[in-house]
Amino acid sequence: MALSQMLGRLIGVRQRVVDPGGGGTARVPRPVEAVVVGGGIAGMSAAVVLAERGVAVTVLEAAPTLGGRLGAWPEALTDDTQLIEHGFHAFFRQYYNWRAILRRVDPGLGFLKPIPGYPILSGQWPTEEFGRLPPAAPLNLLALLLRSPSLRLADLRRMDQDAALPLLGYHPVRTYAEFDTTTADQLLTSLKLPDRARAMLFEVFSHSFFNREAEMSAAEMIAQFHFYLLGNPEGLAFDCPDEDYATAIWQPLTRHVEKHGGRVVTEAAVTRLDREPGGWRVRTADGSAYRAAHVVLAVD
Ligand SMILES: Cc1cc2nc3c(=O)[nH]c(=O)nc-3n(C[C@H](O)[C@H](O)[C@H](O)COP(=O)(O)OP(=O)(O)OC[C@H]3O[C@@H](n4cnc5c(N)ncnc54)[C@H](O)[C@@H]3O)c2cc1C
Repeated sequence: MALSQMLGRLIGVRQRVVDPGGGGTARVPRPVEAVVVGGGIAGMSAAVVLAERGVAVTVLEAAPTLGGRLGAWPEALTDDTQLIEHGFHAFFRQYYNWRAILRRVDPGLGFLKPIPGYPILSGQWPTEEFGRLPPAAPLNLLALLLRSPSLRLADLRRMDQDAALPLLGYHPVRTYAEFDTTTADQLLTSLKLPDRARAMLFEVFSHSFFNREAEMSAAEMIAQFHFYLLGNPEGLAFDCPDEDYATAIWQPLTRHVEKHGGRVVTEAAVTRLDREPGGWRVRTADGSAYRAAHVVLAVD
């Protein structure tokens, strides 16, 4: 802990929070401006940590509302206005940085309500009962099998165990070197898993990320299997907001950025970036120009 933080705690001064995921210094040493292009999760997260560090940050979002793929926007009905969202979003427990950002607007994350199951779980046992599993992949696999009634030991016996080995041994470089040119479909077929087990264990990854197994990299699928099912104690446990995303997330995050001296501009589609001495000139479709030393591109 930095000396200034310790002193702050001792004398009860509220510290500015800076995302632990980012590293670096807590405050910029001199005034500096940054433009963030895109007001989804990535852009607003960047704006939060920059503003907290004292960067004069401007978010430029093309749409009338924030959030991008996690957006919510008003639609006029005949007798009412309804907030519409893209669809269901799971707030996974292992998304540590995103949850750290959300704690800015709700320190206890009270707006997130646990969802006590996932299609892969039996639904008979609440996930909490399994608690934090040891981070050893084989044990996690065992736990996964125990809580997935559609998977039986017989399924594992029928699997090609040599083909299945890479699933347990994910490595960020070696896995991609070995499997990036194989499709998820080819790898899964080689495992000889029964169809139902294959659908439950693996199709979730291609469906959730809008990939077809025949086009998705096997390395990518192994990485996701590792992160979500084997390598991570939080696994597939997740929560959901009890309010719409605009009310629960985007409005309070905007206020947080503004409180730290930043600004958020919607309906500002960036059309051009030009280098100029000392930084960048960022132009938007309405003819406005923004100058900044730094630009963060957080577009889709
Ligand atoms: C239906 C659906 C379900 C999903 N379910 C989950 C889930 O359960 N759990 C989960 O973790 N993730 C889920 N995701 C994925 C998650 O929503 C995305 O990974 C995340 O929202 C992406 O955030 P982002 O900031 O990177 O991009 P985006 O949300 O795409 O934000 C990019 C922003 O940039 C803006 N932009 C683009 N071009 C310009 C420009 N020229 N000028 C200014 N602004 C610009 C866009 O308008 C947009 O607002 C789901 C996605 C969808 C669509």
